[in-house]
Amino acid sequence: EKLYRIQGWGEPYFSINAAGRVMVSPQGDRGGSLDLYELVESLRQRNLGLPLLIRFPDILADRVERLNACFSRAIARYNYPNTYRGVYPVKCNQSRHLVEALVEFGKPYHFGLEVGSKPELAIALATLEPSSPHATAPLLMCNGYKDREYIETALLATKLGHFPIIAIEQLEELHLILEIAKKLEIPPVLGVRAKLSAKGSGHWGDSTGDRAKFGLTIPQILAVTTHLQREGMLDSLQLLHFHIGSQISSISTIKDAIREAAQIYGELVNLGAKMQYLDVGGGLAVDYDGSKTNFYASKNYNMQNYANDIVAEVKEACEEREIDAPILVSESGRAIAAHQSVLIFDILGTSDVSPELPPTVEGKEHLILRNLWETYQTLTPENYQETYHDAIQFKEEAISLFSFGYLSLQERARAEQLYWACCQKILDITRTQDNVPDDLEDLEKNMASIYYANLSVFQSAPDAWAIAQLFPIMPVHRLNEEPTQRATLADLTCDSDGKIDRFIDSRNAKEILELHSLPKSEPYYLGMFLVGAYQETMGNLHNLFGDTNVVHIRATPTGYQIDRVVKGDAIADVLSYAQYDPEDLIENIRRLTENALQDRRLTLEDAQRLLQNYEKTLDRYTYLS
Ligand code: PLP
Repeated sequence: EKLYRIQGWGEPYFSINAAGRVMVSPQGDRGGSLDLYELVESLRQRNLGLPLLIRFPDILADRVERLNACFSRAIARYNYPNTYRGVYPVKCNQSRHLVEALVEFGKPYHFGLEVGSKPELAIALATLEPSSPHATAPLLMCNGYKDREYIETALLATKLGHFPIIAIEQLEELHLILEIAKKLEIPPVLGVRAKLSAKGSGHWGDSTGDRAKFGLTIPQILAVTTHLQREGMLDSLQLLHFHIGSQISSISTIKDAIREAAQIYGELVNLGAKMQYLDVGGGLAVDYDGSKTNFYASKNYNMQNYANDIVAEVKEACEEREIDAPILVSESGRAIAAHQSVLIFDILGTSDVSPELPPTVEGKEHLILRNLWETYQTLTPENYQETYHDAIQFKEEAISLFSFGYLSLQERARAEQLYWACCQKILDITRTQDNVPDDLEDLEKNMASIYYANLSVFQSAPDAWAIAQLFPIMPVHRLNEEPTQRATLADLTCDSDGKIDRFIDSRNAKEILELHSLPKSEPYYLGMFLVGAYQETMGNLHNLFGDTNVVHIRATPTGYQIDRVVKGDAIADVLSYAQYDPEDLIENIRRLTENALQDRRLTLEDAQRLLQNYEKTLDRYTYLS
């Protein structure tokens, strides 16, 4: 538990049982749990190959419920005179079954959706259940760049019973919205997105501030109110929105932003806008490393602290100004969707630097080999640091000697083996020390085994590659066995970036993952956890590794049931994404086999075998079986 910090990031959904297996409790503390290894085995028996994305909709339901419960508790605790009405930002994970489930789970809370593009708007309009009056209708927050069609569709959706609020993110949008609203004779409900000066930190720290991509500066917000007033439409401005970036690790950043936004809100009320909603955007972080700190992969607050601070700050600001408190809206994506997906993949093989001790170096052998041998033999805990540098120097000399033709291939191999044997001995010494000298810090990583993982980082964990995002990764079984190997992960793509060599650790990423030695005939399954937010649709087809198989597992009173299976891409699917027609490809191969038959390069039997293999391959999963 300590090694993989599962308690920190996994509670209450993931834990380890006495048999050393990861257990999943989809309903948190309130329900039973299931053995993840057994689940994977039974899914494999149903012909579902790895990598496999397992979604637990019950976790999603629990997240929605928790968020709403946190705001309810905060509202009760601070006697807040209004309500909370959250929305889920579709961009976080647009998968149909997930959004449909979310809308269903959100109904008791009038939970809405946030969209940032026309395709997302299309999803929301057809998935959200319209309801009137507005007091109970789930909100449809319309963000992002908008063209005429986007605005028209959003406004017309009002007639279906939807409750769209159009957030003005660019000044030019205002004129277009007013023009279309007048033509359609539909009074719009408008919001403004403010560029706050309170800044987030970490990767998304630049989502606000003067140079942020979205939102209006204070002078621009004033230009909006002036224009609306002139048009006699100041009543339509009802919402203030801000988003200071995703994964805000520090609660003090959130507080600063709320404080600033609450003041802007109050000023808009004073200017005569009929303000009703304060939308605090996303940013509620996920504790990926379980450290509960303000490290970028963590957060130094919980969901309840988050709700409390928003409610308390807004209440205080409104009381001071003697204005009505707004309906609070939040757009949490990551905190709702991350926990429900686990990616399971297997390890196909390993590669080690193989530091076995080479045979004794004889007195007549090349001087450089004798030097390396002596270095190896005289290495002790007292001299290991300087000896490490000697070993590096001798290895470099050996490579130069080889390049100038003074060492044979066998001698170079011996030199390299001796060097790695020295490194292994030094590493064994450093592992017994409390503090590792700076110049030896990389040794652990350099000596680590490479574990070849049956997945594509680009498809399944694009953020691990693109922005050094950390996800908890651990074996899902054998957890009562000491892991003896130190490894980094390499994926299936032919890209040297297709690797994972940063893992969770307290307040600092570490460069190796402790794993078990690979069994000869049994599979070794690893899980990558908390991958439900952003990874799925941002994944790409590098090397044409396609979408993975997806299953939805629902808890039942007696265990679980497989609710839904979404088959991953077959090879023919990914080829067609690159505009190949599988039929044409097969026909080309058939023609080639006919030519080869004519020239007697191929027997009829082999030609048939080749064609059948080719056709079968097109139907296969893109990953290794
Ligand atoms: N709202 C807006 C406008 C966003 O751009 C985002 C994503 O960055 C979110 C909400 C969701 O943020 P998070 O996933 O941090 O909750």
